[in-house]
Amino acid sequence: MTRWGMAIDTDRCTGCGACVVACHAENNIQTVGEEEARNGRAMHWMRIERHYEGVFPDVRIRFMPVLCQHCAAAPCEPVCPVYATYRNPEGLNAMVYSRCIGTRYCANNCPYSVRFFNWHGGEWPEPLQLQLNPDVAVRPAGVMEKCTFCVQRIQDVKGRARSEDRPVLDGEIRTACAQSCPAQAIVFGDLEDPTSRVAQLARSDRAERLLGDLGTNPSVIYLKGGE
Ligand code: SF4
Repeated sequence: MTRWGMAIDTDRCTGCGACVVACHAENNIQTVGEEEARNGRAMHWMRIERHYEGVFPDVRIRFMPVLCQHCAAAPCEPVCPVYATYRNPEGLNAMVYSRCIGTRYCANNCPYSVRFFNWHGGEWPEPLQLQLNPDVAVRPAGVMEKCTFCVQRIQDVKGRARSEDRPVLDGEIRTACAQSCPAQAIVFGDLEDPTSRVAQLARSDRAERLLGDLGTNPSVIYLKGGE
């Protein structure tokens, strides 16, 4: 059994946003511009939240990258009338774009606000279309989209391991955000493998789940910052 998961160390994160940019580039995410963002239609599969601690002038800012939490008990799944989103056998909260009819019930039921409705389909005028990742579908207008844990990279590594007749090694799969993070704040791997780095971090005293009281059982673990 595999359960893909991610650990994010908030003590290491500097809020630089490289992960957000890498996610856009890897996953062909459209840039909607200021006006659409003002209309509440911003599109980022990953965002950096800021939290302030202390009282001025002794204020400390903490950053928290937030993405789909790939919950084991995902609130988005049971409200989809066409089963366009479901939990796959490897613990990913999968999204079938061709089934989605755009009711947006899932986004309304997600406590983490990490699902985004594609209002316009996105445009990449020449020569910007050359930047599109051929391993990732360009989503049409009218469907919901969100972080996939870079499933195309997972499949690529799994295929390579299969052709070499060996298991996938810990650390071999790196999501775009993890690969681009200069602080190495993001670790991706198999939570079911007790020896994996991500599983070890998940057992740490600093580990906590976002809105853990809701019982959604996310696959993203945050490592709390120290004093
Ligand atoms: S790239 Fe790393 S340090 Fe920068 S915002 Fe993302 S998680 Fe934080």
